Amino acid sequence: MTEALTNTILTIPQPGQFELVQRPYPTIAAGYAIIRTEIAPVCLEGSRIWAAHDFEFHDDSQHLGHEGVGTVVEAMKGSNFKVGDRVIVFQGDHCGHCHACTEGLSPTYCDANDPDLRGVDGAAMKGIEKRTGSASGGFAMATYRIAPEANMFRIPDELQFRHAASANCSMGVGFSNQEVMNVKAGDTVLVGGVGFIAMGHIISALYRNATVIALMRNEYREGLLRAMGVQHFVNPDDPDWLAQVKALTYNGQGVDHSVDGSGVTYYQERLMAATRRYGNVNFSGHTPGAKIDFSPLHHVIDPGHTLWGQHDVRVLDRQRLVRALCNREVQRMIDVMVTHEFPMSRAGEAFDIQVSKQCGKIYLWTQQ
Ligand SMILES: [Zn+2]
Ligand SMILES: [Zn+2]
Repeated sequence: MTEALTNTILTIPQPGQFELVQRPYPTIAAGYAIIRTEIAPVCLEGSRIWAAHDFEFHDDSQHLGHEGVGTVVEAMKGSNFKVGDRVIVFQGDHCGHCHACTEGLSPTYCDANDPDLRGVDGAAMKGIEKRTGSASGGFAMATYRIAPEANMFRIPDELQFRHAASANCSMGVGFSNQEVMNVKAGDTVLVGGVGFIAMGHIISALYRNATVIALMRNEYREGLLRAMGVQHFVNPDDPDWLAQVKALTYNGQGVDHSVDGSGVTYYQERLMAATRRYGNVNFSGHTPGAKIDFSPLHHVIDPGHTLWGQHDVRVLDRQRLVRALCNREVQRMIDVMVTHEFPMSRAGEAFDIQVSKQCGKIYLWTQQ
C-alpha cells in the first residue's frame, strides 16, 4: 500500500530559494512510527538558514524542520500508538538509557542526539533516518516524518493542532524553562530580545500569574505583547531603563527572573543587572558567534544569581505543558503569537517574513 507513496520534503538549496522534492516514503523499525505532519512551525530555518545558509550539525540544505504535529499513519506491531492518533513530536532521537532519558529530561540532551557520541550523520534527526534505514522522514518540513514513540505525545481530543503546535520552540520551551526556574504567581519576569521563544516565555509567565516586563524596541512585536496582556514595556535604550524596571518590582529590588531571547550581550548584560539578589537569569536565545564576557565575582557570586538555560521540553513537563495548552486564555495568546500561516508550497513567503522580524511564530501547513 505504501509503495506508491512518496515523501515531499522542503529543501533550501541556496539562500533565499526553496524547492519541494520527492523522496522515497519512509521506512520504520521497532520504537518508531510514521507521522503525516500537519503543521511544521518555522524555527531558525527562516532566519539563519534562509538568509545566511548557516547550519547546525543537525540540519543542512536537504534536511529541515524539527518542530511539528501530525497524525500517526503507520506504527509497528505492539506499539502504544495506533493509526489515527494525533501527536506532538518532540525533536530528536531517543536512546532510553542515558542521563536525560532516565531522568525525564529534554531529549535534546539524550546521547542519541549528541554528534560527539554518534557522529554528525548518526545523531538527532539524521540519526533517526540512519537507525530506521530510511531514505527520508527524519525531519518536520515534509509530508511524512518518522518519530521515536518515546518523543511522541498523544494530543487530547479537545486540543486543536494549531495550539498543540506551540509545544516545541515557543510555548513549550518557555514553559519547561519556567518549570525548571519555578516561576510562580506574584513573581516578576523581565524578558528581553523578544522573538518567538521569548513570546513562549511570556505566555507561560502570564499563565502562571506572574508580572511580565518587556525590555524591547520592536514596535510590531510590542503590539502582539499588548494583545496578549503584557502591561509593562521599557525601552532598553532609555538612559534610565534600569530605574524604570526596578520601579515595577517589589521594594524596587529587581526582578525575580530574567529571560534572554536574543543571544546578544546588549540584552544579556541589562537582564543580569536588573535581576534581584538570588534571582534567576535564563538564557533562551542564541546568536551564532555571540559571546558574553562576565566576572564570576561581580556577575554571579555578588548578586547570588543562578544561571539557567535549556533547549526544548523536559519529558517530565510534557503533561503539564499540554494541560496548559488546553487552557482557553493560553490558546487566545497562542492565536496572537501565531501571526502567519502558509502552505509549505509557499514557504519562501514564510521565510521572508521571518527574516523581516515583523511576525510572531509562523506555521507551515505541510500537506498544502
Ligand atoms: Zn538517551
Ligand atoms: Zn525549534
